[in-house]
Amino acid sequence: MHYVEGQSLSVIPPGIAENGKPHKPRLYSIASTRYGDLLDGKTVSLCVRQAEYTDPETGTVDPTKAGVCSNFLCNVQKGDTVSVAGPVGKTMLLPEDPSTDIIMVATGTGIAPFRGFLHRLFMENTVARHMYTGNAWLILGVPVTGGLLYPQELELMQENANGNLEVSFAISREMKNASGGKLYVQDILAERSADLFSKLDSGAVIYFCGLKGMMPGILEALERVATQNDVDWETKFNELKANGQWHVEVY
Ligand code: FAD
Repeated sequence: MHYVEGQSLSVIPPGIAENGKPHKPRLYSIASTRYGDLLDGKTVSLCVRQAEYTDPETGTVDPTKAGVCSNFLCNVQKGDTVSVAGPVGKTMLLPEDPSTDIIMVATGTGIAPFRGFLHRLFMENTVARHMYTGNAWLILGVPVTGGLLYPQELELMQENANGNLEVSFAISREMKNASGGKLYVQDILAERSADLFSKLDSGAVIYFCGLKGMMPGILEALERVATQNDVDWETKFNELKANGQWHVEVY
């Protein structure tokens, strides 16, 4: 199966759903490059959050309501067969022009496609890496430091990138924004709005990936800072989408 960075894999969990039909497939962003983590083109990596259900009244985890596919994947054993389809997705592909700056905004498992991007642009010894002359900026949001995914890899990527990769962390329960509240990815975008708009005005491409709930706060913050800088956000937003500079994959 051939895939490229930023695509997703469709996983079909085994078994039968409550309606008596086979379980529906679930999508997972591919977290490796086209060569896979073993570099032989025969593997694919996913970054899966195990979905639990906590009863809001008792506060206890109810295993009968656990997420089907994420629990299947998190408990899979070496040698097990997993039914997959795909790859799918054209939303999160890297820009064709290797001089394009990229801005990646991720929360939680939203780091997955960007891990693929960064391995491609800064780690693997391929033409793609040698051709890339743009700058990459990753803004990563998690609640606590312990929830950071791939921290050692990110350090190595920064070392390899020779100053062309910036990583900004928004660790919401441990870091504070300018008004003393929790620091979220949108606070970094707002605090660094001059850099952000200057990059976008020069053709940078911005990607967002993670939980659906991240987008309203981000859009609100961008509209606020745009207005403060006398930028008509609606026009700018439509322009970014029309130019192919705006890419969102949230779930
Ligand atoms: P489901 O069985 O579908 O259940 C969904 C939720 O409902 C769970 O939280 C479950 O605990 C809860 N639930 C179950 N039964 C009940 C009940 N009776 N009452 C109340 N609640 C209940 N996920 C990732 O982890 N990593 C990724 O990289 C990723 N990429 C994605 C990319 C795309 C394009 C999309 C669309 C989605 C992506 N997802 C990703 C999400 C993923 O597809 C699944 O939606 C997710 O893993 C949950 O699936 P599940 O089968 O485990 O949960």
